[in-house]
Amino acid sequence: MSKRIYIDDAIKKVGDEVLLKGWVHVRRNMGKIAFIDLRDMTGLMQVVLVPGELDDAGKEVLPRIRPEFVVAITGRQASEELRLKYRYLDLRHERMAKNIKLRSDVIRYVVDFLTDHNFTYIQTPMLSKSTPEGARDYLVPSRVHQGKFFALPQSPQQYKQLLMVAGMERYFQIAPCFRDEDARADRSPGEFYQIDMEMSFMSQAEILDLTEDMFTSMIKKLFTDKKITNEPWPRLKYAEVMKKYGTDKPDLRKDKNDLNELAFAWIVDFPLFNKQTKEDFFFGSGKSQWAPSHHMFTAPKEEDVHLLDKEPGKAHAYQHDLVLNGLEVGGGSIRIHNPKVQEKIWDLIGFSNEQKKQFAHLIEAFKYGVPPHGGIAPGLDRLVSILAGEKNIREVIAFPLTGDVRDPLMGAPSEVDKEQLNELGIELKNKKLK
Ligand code: ASP
Repeated sequence: MSKRIYIDDAIKKVGDEVLLKGWVHVRRNMGKIAFIDLRDMTGLMQVVLVPGELDDAGKEVLPRIRPEFVVAITGRQASEELRLKYRYLDLRHERMAKNIKLRSDVIRYVVDFLTDHNFTYIQTPMLSKSTPEGARDYLVPSRVHQGKFFALPQSPQQYKQLLMVAGMERYFQIAPCFRDEDARADRSPGEFYQIDMEMSFMSQAEILDLTEDMFTSMIKKLFTDKKITNEPWPRLKYAEVMKKYGTDKPDLRKDKNDLNELAFAWIVDFPLFNKQTKEDFFFGSGKSQWAPSHHMFTAPKEEDVHLLDKEPGKAHAYQHDLVLNGLEVGGGSIRIHNPKVQEKIWDLIGFSNEQKKQFAHLIEAFKYGVPPHGGIAPGLDRLVSILAGEKNIREVIAFPLTGDVRDPLMGAPSEVDKEQLNELGIELKNKKLK
């Protein structure tokens, strides 16, 4: 190990052995574990030292290290496991503390902005019923009603639509959403947060205007060194972006290496349906022809409703996606408020009568008078990670789960007592697990 690398480049070397050289920015000795924030001309890196694992020279020098010492350190980049196990120490690192504060500032801005625009912050239940938004649900067994399960919401989609029937007109919430999906770099496994909004009597263009105004003014107030590439944000048609960029998440930055450039874009005019695949397990895992491009409550464009009977694949939707620097940071739509159209969509995605019955409450609610409505749900974690210049979404979450969906700090998920299972009427199939 002879070639020194810059801190900026080391980020890509998790698990590899690297040689870093620079100045001690901060040093914290916690006994069983010590930290050095190492600084070079390219940035700051947290170095985790487990004294028991150091060589003799390292053991000898560690207690004497002080801020501004010049040091060379050879070692492996800390694993996610270690950082998350000692997350309360990891969060003391300047960069992490800054990210968490930035997240708080973004939430505060959004809450103030929307409250000033007559939105009401409304909390919706966590113990809920499975919503068919395409992902696997987290289930919670009911003790009182044995054999029955609650589901943690994938999003408050149905509740926010019911709130429009309730006459709330403008709803929002920093909403926790739960999806039992595998991790991706830009999505935290298990749970994530949305800036969830729903509005009555608003056109699609008005919803986009308001959301754009919120984020543009936020960036001008909180992120003064960032610049927005195009104002107003371009509103692009799905078919045109696919043709021009080959993706529906085009990166419109002029200089992709410029960390301070923010290229927002709206993508509209999506097809209402995609061809169903095996992944659409809620809708029938490829057995039916169509799956909703956004979700099944999304309204077809008025002029395309007649296509539903003969050529549903040609119908377009009032769907809008929000794209930032080549990543999707949110989506939404104008909703169906006509029960007949909703019924037709269910038929097209292959719903059985049983499945339709699961939504009887929504159709029932619409009978009492439903305003035209629509909304959007920008993802908070992803948005903050882009604004913080972080590639991994977990860097802006205080206590994220690992890539394989565990919390090494608390030790979750964990086994539970037999008594607890008995009360729930649950017996484990694989008894060896207990
Ligand atoms: N509930 C939708 C989602 O989670 C967002 C929306 O349509 O407002 O993607």
